[in-house]
Amino acid sequence: MPPTPQPQVTGKPLVTAGRQQLLVDRPHCAGVHRHLDAGSRRAPCGATYTVMTYPTEQGAS
Ligand SMILES: [Zn+2]
Repeated sequence: MPPTPQPQVTGKPLVTAGRQQLLVDRPHCAGVHRHLDAGSRRAPCGATYTVMTYPTEQGAS
């Protein structure tokens, strides 16, 4: 496998019908992709990236 670094993108949490999805804003193409989970993902357009979640849940006071 080529040692190409994967871009990291931040997924916007979207809760639909009790299921959370992560919306990823096109860092690579003109579309918006949805993923069910964070981590290394492959988009329908063929791009590969690591989906990060928003850090807002940490340390909420
Ligand atoms: Zn794409």
